[in-house]
Amino acid sequence: MLGRRALASLALAFAALPPPRPAEAAVTDATLEPAGDGARLTLALPAGTRWRLVAATRPNRLVLATPGAAWRGPASLGSAGPVRRGVAERGQMRLDLLRPAAVKRVEESRGRLVIELEPTTAGGFARLAAAGRPLAESGTATASNLGRSQPGGAQPGASTPRSPARAGPLPLVVLDPGHGGRDPGTIGTRGTQEKRIVLAAAEELKKLLEAGGRCRVALTRSNDRFVPLGDRVEFARRRQATLFVSLHADSAPGARGASVYTLGDSSDALAGALARRENLADRAGGLRLPSVPPEVQAILLSLMRAETRAGSARMAGLVVEELGEDVPLLPNTHRQAGFVVLKAPEIPSVLVEMGFLSHPADEAALRRPDHRAKVARALGRAIHGWLARAGTAEALAAG
Ligand SMILES: [Zn+2]
Repeated sequence: MLGRRALASLALAFAALPPPRPAEAAVTDATLEPAGDGARLTLALPAGTRWRLVAATRPNRLVLATPGAAWRGPASLGSAGPVRRGVAERGQMRLDLLRPAAVKRVEESRGRLVIELEPTTAGGFARLAAAGRPLAESGTATASNLGRSQPGGAQPGASTPRSPARAGPLPLVVLDPGHGGRDPGTIGTRGTQEKRIVLAAAEELKKLLEAGGRCRVALTRSNDRFVPLGDRVEFARRRQATLFVSLHADSAPGARGASVYTLGDSSDALAGALARRENLADRAGGLRLPSVPPEVQAILLSLMRAETRAGSARMAGLVVEELGEDVPLLPNTHRQAGFVVLKAPEIPSVLVEMGFLSHPADEAALRRPDHRAKVARALGRAIHGWLARAGTAEALAAG
């Protein structure tokens, strides 16, 4: 469990902030007050000041940095909501937390910055810290960088019901029905289109998971439209998904049964090579590690990937176990391949082939809603099993 949690602290230790510029730009006041079950931090600072808020663990804290603006606000802030205290040091405001907190809302207007915090789960906070990117920052203080929110309208098939605010957001599971639109996927001997089968199965699974109340669910597409592979991964990453499950149906002469794929080893060599280059952030698909030397980035990325890979493998094992109860399996059920949709470096990901549309028996079964419901129930059990252990491990690691 060292990987992603240690990553955040390590990354912060390496991320030297530029020294504040003398005089002209400065944070001149700061207040912290309770707001509902959260807290509201209000800062007076010149319009256009750059700032960012990052999370760190051991102990849990939030750090607001204003590179380029000196800190002339109070040296400390009293307790409010989940915040134990605020301490100004080295031009930053450090908020020590009593309880894990996430950003609920950010408002920037004419010399005033308001950041509202709300309680979140230990696991949710650990993920925010491990993601290595700001919870919020200047100029982008809306929706997409706030973890639990999502950009309105821009994304195909977005559907993320809010969990009760009191408990903070539940972990997000992204379901990815393959293909769609002009790409029908595999076409069965009776003309069954993969894109329709997998969407129906994803919708069934979403219903089950939401009824379970243990996670939020979002679909990369919720209708018959084409979504590029890279967009599916980005969809999950932008929302800081906990788990990514892609649904497909396969085609191969004579073969039948369900199977599950995780990313093959070759991808790690690729990641290593990528990490040694300078522009890691872009090349790793938008993953933003703090500004650290390339060799440190390589270590951070490899730690993160190792943990992600372990999470993916654990999920694949559960899928095999649960599906095996109910449906025929392909021999060597857990396989590895370099599917693009499995390449998020920080999100455990699996691709489930629910059966072979090229096999008449599998095709007939997959056409039946009751069979798809059976597959969905098995996947639902696997996901719940995976989440249960992820939650425990994270609570322990964060505590
Ligand atoms: Zn497919």
